Amino acid sequence: MCRHLAYLGPPVTLAELLFDPVYSLARQSWAPRDMRGGGTINADGFGVGWYPGDGEPVRYRRAQPIWSDPTIADLAAVTRAGAVLAAVRSATVGMAVLDGAAAPFAQGRWLFSHNGVIRGWPDAVVPLAATLPVRDLLTLDAATDSALLWALVRHRLRAGDDPAEAVARTVAEVAAAAPGSRLNLLLTDGRRVVASAAGHALSVRAAQGSVLVASEPHDDDPGWRPVPEGHLVVATVNEVRVRPLPTR
Ligand code: GLN
Repeated sequence: MCRHLAYLGPPVTLAELLFDPVYSLARQSWAPRDMRGGGTINADGFGVGWYPGDGEPVRYRRAQPIWSDPTIADLAAVTRAGAVLAAVRSATVGMAVLDGAAAPFAQGRWLFSHNGVIRGWPDAVVPLAATLPVRDLLTLDAATDSALLWALVRHRLRAGDDPAEAVARTVAEVAAAAPGSRLNLLLTDGRRVVASAAGHALSVRAAQGSVLVASEPHDDDPGWRPVPEGHLVVATVNEVRVRPLPTR
């Protein structure tokens, strides 16, 4: 399974999120602390998306371990942003290992990541996939469960769902179609973050005009709060709300 994080707040370097903390995302790629039985390391790719000023996000994604990429450490040291979404990937067996299979998935201002797996892939979700426009299926970033989840969430966003609804309803419909799936989704537009805790670990740290939502606490700061299983986080820099996910 993957590890992911989203940050909103005063501009920081990507290195402050990806590399510097004692249990940073980079460290979580080889020594995650709370994988709940879903894999051991996250070495099948990584990605980071950040918002330069008020513009649309820029991404850097690679299908290799974050520790073996010659560029990301230099890029992270000099790139500052006040909104970031990043992930390290452990591919589910049988799924493609490609740049395009690494989160974040994106469209317009949206950045998206999935930590988990759709059980019974692909058969369990064929009926759900069939509800999407054919064009969306033909242009999936990769033939993976995570890319399909992004297509389902994006379809709801386009239809006018509020982001919390888009995530909550997608989790509910996929969980119903594919029981036992792990569906920690993470979505941001650079101003708010929506994240589900559905089968995997998730924590939040809100501090002084910033918020960090992450699979695992990246340091020993006592401000980290675990998100209970089956809950949805909706966060801005001013407010963190946690509420139960609907079951259907
Ligand atoms: N099933 C996803 C994939 O293979 C996995 C994301 C994760 O949590 N490893 O891309």
